[in-house]
Amino acid sequence: MTTTTTQSVAPNLRLDGITLTYPDGDGTLTALDRVDLDVPAGTITAVVGPSGSGKSSLLAVAATLVTPDSGSVVLAGTEVNGLSAADRSRLRRERVGIVFQQPSLLPSLTALEQLQVMAHLDGRGPRGARSQAAELLDAVGLAAQAGRRPHQLSGGQRQRINIARALMNEPAVLLVDEPTSALDHERGAAVLDLIARLTRERGTATVLVTHDRTHLAEADEVLTMTDGRLGACASAV
Ligand code: ADP
Ligand code: MG
Repeated sequence: MTTTTTQSVAPNLRLDGITLTYPDGDGTLTALDRVDLDVPAGTITAVVGPSGSGKSSLLAVAATLVTPDSGSVVLAGTEVNGLSAADRSRLRRERVGIVFQQPSLLPSLTALEQLQVMAHLDGRGPRGARSQAAELLDAVGLAAQAGRRPHQLSGGQRQRINIARALMNEPAVLLVDEPTSALDHERGAAVLDLIARLTRERGTATVLVTHDRTHLAEADEVLTMTDGRLGACASAV
């Protein structure tokens, strides 16, 4: 991979002047408007804001799933601009963990296998993958459920597996989009506690999009998205 490495100075995730527009009728819709963001290793930046304000777009750009109109994304010291599509997906696979709102687990696989599959995609051998998957299931409190399939697990347990799976590649950056929206308050709180603990233990630079303001105490920084602009949080948490 031909890349520029600036690891010594860059935080795990840096967005600089990101603007993203979508075609909208005759004009364009600005989903992200000159967004800057630095997320150091081992910290959580929470992003709150109304529906449609650009939060998921921000994660899609940070995940290199969407290429912005302008601006730069630096992931674990690697500038994404100029990478080929293949290098971009490799960088994503190796350095980024993504947790979407609804756990997208494969119905026929056990909890352990959901995790092992990730290592397989990465071309790693089965033996190391199995012990790593078991260790991560233990870290999210589901060692006893390793042999269960998704339909035998609660919504909260499925979301925990989703999080463990995102950590299988030991990502530098963890991107989490409204992880508690399908959960009741108590289970949601437990999932956020888990994300906070794993962020510290594993040193990920975590961006947590949430509309649930009750658990923002876990965050090192809280930012508000308004019409594609990212700014300091207006109200005290
Ligand atoms: P949020 O996650 O805060 O609800 P999004 O990032 O999903 O916001 O959306 C921001 C804006 O961009 C919205 O107006 C949305 O309709 C628009 N948008 C998002 N994705 C697309 C797309 N693929 N094509 C066109 N418009 C989009
Ligand atoms: Mg969204």
